[in-house]
Amino acid sequence: MVVSTPDNTLDPQLQAGDKDLQLRPQMLDEFIGHDELRSNLRVFMQSAKQRRVAIDHTLFFGPPGLGKTTLAQILARELSVNIRMTSGPVLAKAGDLAAILTNLEVRDVLFVDEIHRLHPLIEEVLYPALEDFALDLVIGSGPAARSVRIELNPFTLVGATTRLGLLTTPLRDRFGIHLKLEYYSPGQLYAIVKRGAKVLDIAITPGGAEEIARRSRGTPRIANRLLSRVVDFALVEGDGKISKQLASMALTRLGVDKLGFDRSDLQYLNIIARKYEGGPVGIDTIAAAMSETRDSIEDVIEPFLLQQGYILRTPRGRTLAHQAWRHLGLRPPSAPPAQDLFGDGR
Ligand code: ADP
Repeated sequence: MVVSTPDNTLDPQLQAGDKDLQLRPQMLDEFIGHDELRSNLRVFMQSAKQRRVAIDHTLFFGPPGLGKTTLAQILARELSVNIRMTSGPVLAKAGDLAAILTNLEVRDVLFVDEIHRLHPLIEEVLYPALEDFALDLVIGSGPAARSVRIELNPFTLVGATTRLGLLTTPLRDRFGIHLKLEYYSPGQLYAIVKRGAKVLDIAITPGGAEEIARRSRGTPRIANRLLSRVVDFALVEGDGKISKQLASMALTRLGVDKLGFDRSDLQYLNIIARKYEGGPVGIDTIAAAMSETRDSIEDVIEPFLLQQGYILRTPRGRTLAHQAWRHLGLRPPSAPPAQDLFGDGR
């Protein structure tokens, strides 16, 4: 039986009710996976500490829910500095940014989420701040207008974006460190689920943790959210312990299938398969058919399907890959018969 649940169970963006505060790793050693990224970051932090300077401006990019905010917070904690958090769309006026920048203490971290959504005027204010730790402000207007320069404390901008391609080149170039976050392997997600169960103080078998890991779309935030929901089932309908069988039953009832696809993923795949014979079909057409925004399809649904090879992105639109047809239990439309080159059946 599949009960009706909100369709956001597998949404990698932060939802109300996520146990983020409780489950977020606090130090770099607790951050699971991304070994190379972690060891590089450790070197950059150590070097900045030794030289007693602010660490270079750092950009984290990758799909939502993979640990960008977590790493920014870890960075500040490991460097024993304050972190000020904001996001691109929130910074509407140059004055807002100026107020934040002038309040930063030496070597503090300013975290800007969704940095690709910064207003161009705000970006202009940011450039001298990033390069010279100074703000150029225009005071007054008309002939009396004059420009004043305000010195800032050296700080580190940590930017996070799900869409590197939407960042302007001048902004991208001002980050000295670029770090890419990738989807996690089932083994890494297994470790994240085990850690989460320990934090939440719930017993879990290896099979139970494996089941949740496999159905988490490569995303720690989803792994933690599914774990919390499975805990509910274990406490109310089970014996308080998460076994493979209980996890599987709970996840199926939450509408998460064996591969971790939810209703939105299946709706997306079904539209391409059934309405457009497997594509190619344009993203705007799919968005209209699903009553979703193009952005949410590109940010939330497609990255995992692309990475896993269930869909292909071509210049003419999206097409279904073989394994997507198989997963839907459908047969791809038959390919045109091979041409008989010699006309005699050879
Ligand atoms: P993003 O900023 O990329 O959207 P977050 O940093 O907010 O993602 O991470 C979402 C949640 O996933 C965090 O609260 C944290 O609990 C968990 N998480 C992310 N990365 C890891 C990791 N490597 N190890 C353990 N938990 C993680």
